[in-house]
Formats: sequence, C-alpha cells, structure tokens
Amino acid sequence: MSTIARSIVIVGAGQAGVQAASALRAEGYDGAIHLLGNEPCLPYQRPPLSKSYLSGNIADEELHLETAQWFDEQRIERSVDTHVDSIERRLKRVKLSSGRMLGYDHLILATGARNRPLPALSEPIQGVISLRTVADAAALTSKLRGSRRVVVIGAGFLGLEVASVAIAQGCDVHVVESVDRVMQRAISVEMSQACLRHHRTAGLKFSFNARVDAFCAKDGHVSAVKFADGSQLDADLVLVAIGVVPNSELGLACGLDIYNGFIVDEQLRTSDPSIFAIGDCAAFPYAFDGGDRLRLESVQNAVDQACYVARRIVGTADAPRYDQVPVFWSDQGGMRLQMAGVARRLDASVLRGDPSTGAFSVFRYRHDRLTAVESFNRPADHMAARRMLQRRISPSRAQAADITFDLKSLLAAAVTT
Ligand code: FAD
Repeated sequence: MSTIARSIVIVGAGQAGVQAASALRAEGYDGAIHLLGNEPCLPYQRPPLSKSYLSGNIADEELHLETAQWFDEQRIERSVDTHVDSIERRLKRVKLSSGRMLGYDHLILATGARNRPLPALSEPIQGVISLRTVADAAALTSKLRGSRRVVVIGAGFLGLEVASVAIAQGCDVHVVESVDRVMQRAISVEMSQACLRHHRTAGLKFSFNARVDAFCAKDGHVSAVKFADGSQLDADLVLVAIGVVPNSELGLACGLDIYNGFIVDEQLRTSDPSIFAIGDCAAFPYAFDGGDRLRLESVQNAVDQACYVARRIVGTADAPRYDQVPVFWSDQGGMRLQMAGVARRLDASVLRGDPSTGAFSVFRYRHDRLTAVESFNRPADHMAARRMLQRRISPSRAQAADITFDLKSLLAAAVTT
C-alpha cells in the first residue's frame, strides 16, 4: 500500500462506488470503508431500468448490486439517504447531510450524473417524466400501463430503449429528436440508419430536427407537446431523455478542477492527489486518443475505473495509467447494439456485413488506425474488436470489409510475434 490508509470514504453508492468498495477488499485493503449514498435503498444497477425491469421481467431484488449481508460480511459501512454536502480538503474530511463529519485518508468520488432538464419544462407537469433512478422506473412502469400516446424526447440510447418497451406494450410511440438522426452523439451514420430502419419496422414514429417549445396540459396533466414550428403532438405520457450532467458540484466549493465532471489525471486522481473520481462523474484522459479528455456513461467504465483506483490505492496496480477500452451495449426491441472504442465524428466507416440482413458491424478508422467498432447483432465482431483495440491492432480496411476474413487470426498472429 503506497501510504497506509486507515479510512477510505466513497461518495456515491452506485455502480462505481460499490465496485470500488468491493475491489478494495478484493485487493487486500483491510481498513475502514465508508460507502455514502443519497438514495434510500440498497445499491442497484441502472441498465435494466430501461429494459427488463420496465418490461416487468425482473423484480426489484434482482436489480441489487449486492445484498445487505454481503456489505456486512465485507465490513463496508454503508449509509443510505446520506448526502455528502461538502469536502474539507485541508482537514481531509467530508460533511454529511446529518451534520456528521467523516475523516478520510483517500476519498473516492463516484457521484454519477443526473438527467439534463428540458429548458421548455419550466415547472413540473404530471405525465412528463425522466428516468434515472429505480423510483423513476417504477413510476414510468405504472404510467406506461395507463398511456396510449407516448412521446419520447431524445433519440439517444435511453430514449430508444424506453420507446422499444413502450411500443411492445401496445402504445403509440413518437420519438422526437433535435438533430437529424438517432444516437448521433455515439454512433456512425451507417449504424444510425440501420437502427432507424429497425425501429420504424417495429412501428416507432420519428420527428427529426424538432425543437420542443412547450407543453399543453389538461387538469394539470400533459396533453400535448408543442414544437418551435407551431406544430404539436398529442401525448398522455412524455419521457424526457436528453442526456445527463455530471454531479460534480461537490468539487466547486473545495476548489477541485471541474469541466464536464471532475477532471482527473491518467491515474484517475483529481487535482487533489488524495481524491479520486470514477464513473459517470469523471473526465479522464483517453489513452487511446492522445490523452484527449473524455467522460463516459457506461457500466464498463464505472467498473474498470473503480477497479483501477482500488489497485492504485492498495499499491497493486500494474499499469501506470488507466487504459481500458471503452465498451457499451444497448438493447432496443430485439436488437443488441454493442460498441467498443470511441470514434470521432469524422472517422471513416467500413461496413462488415450487409445491414439489410439485420447483423453487421461498422469499423471506424482514423487514417489506418481502428478507433471503434459498432456491432448490430454481431457479438463475435464485438469481442474481437475489444481485444484488437486493447492491443492496438488494426485490421486493414479490406480485411474489415471481408466478412470471410477471420479477425481472430490477427490476434493469434500478434500473440506469436
Ligand atoms: P450512478 O450509478 O449514477 O451512481 C452515483 C450515485 O451517487 C447515485 O446514487 C447518486 O444519487 C449518488 N450521489 C451523487 N451525489 C452524491 C452526494 N453528494 N452524496 C451522496 N451520494 C451522491 N450503461 C451501459 O453500459 N449499458 C446500458 O445498457 C445502460 N443502460 C442504462 C439505462 C438507464 C436507465 C440508466 C440511467 C443508465 C444506463 N447505463 C447503461 C449507464 C450506467 O448505468 C451508468 O454509466 C452507471 O450507473 C454509472 O455508475 P456511477 O456509479 O458512476 O453513477
């Protein structure tokens, strides 16, 4: 252990916070671990909230990341409904909403993100909701049952996942997007087009380049969405899914560097070396892209960063910097979309497979370097891509385009050389 830590405080009991606590124990840390979360329940995973949980296929208990007994056995002191109000860096302690002060040797910030509010929604209207927590998901599940016309604002992953569940439940679903294609921030034009075809076939309707201006309400409940061009869409239920903002306010008052989240270095340390930040709230230098700063919202990112920080604190880290390949998945109405790596908007696309068959991948290139792979129902490409990206192996564009070319052979060749 670099310096002997007696107390590690983790702020945020979500995917990253719980993983950090678990990894600290797995790496042999024996001191006190305080896991402070401001939600009222056992820590849970969020991905099912817009998928199997919303479809009614899994129960609350199946969302839990660990049981209460596990936390006890691991001697992880867990506080629920506990908001951390401030950090006193000089005294190395945090102030809790109860007024209690808690000292730390290392502080791990895993505060996640919250939903971005819609500017057109100046005050809450019944029937206009967003989805981040299990309470949101429970409310959405019951509202979906009583709704016929559903409008989803935002054609990102979350919006499309919920839209897919809603249409499968017999709702009339209209997705409204402010730019010209689905999942524009994250995937190539080619993959966007294929996903749009898939969703249209399932019955989803779309409006692109549409700006929501206001809502109409009847007896306090939403009745329609109004657009900047004067048109409107009737709605019984509206989901606002226009992205998130990182929870980094804690760093403001105590002077940590912040820009789109807590700014961390290649070892995930904030501008204070005894404070780390991980998961959705951390803006870290992306090793694969010349160190350009990135903030990711994914389970893999939360888990891998948590494990790295645990190893750093305990002194067992073998890598001098965090350098995991980002991976993401999304399930949208029978379609599994998987991504490895991160592409920039202008990176070239090479198709592997025929999009009309319902199974293909898009390999993204900057010059001759593979930067990312997006796979639509092609898990084998995704698995090969993860390993190729991790090892900085780039198939030629011709190899990527040739569906008979075995990508694994490049990996095998790399092992033997
Ligand atoms: P969170 O899980 O948000 O946890 C942060 C916790 O910190 C929260 O409980 C928050 O309330 C708490 N907190 C914040 N500030 C304080 C404070 N001051 N004091 C105390 N507690 C505080 N990712 C995928 O890879 N694949 C998917 O398919 C996928 N689907 C998703 C579906 C939904 C509906 C959502 C919401 C997310 C999905 N994600 C998915 C994203 C993934 O769940 C997140 O990236 C992951 O949860 C991030 O973990 P985290 O610990 O950084 O943040």
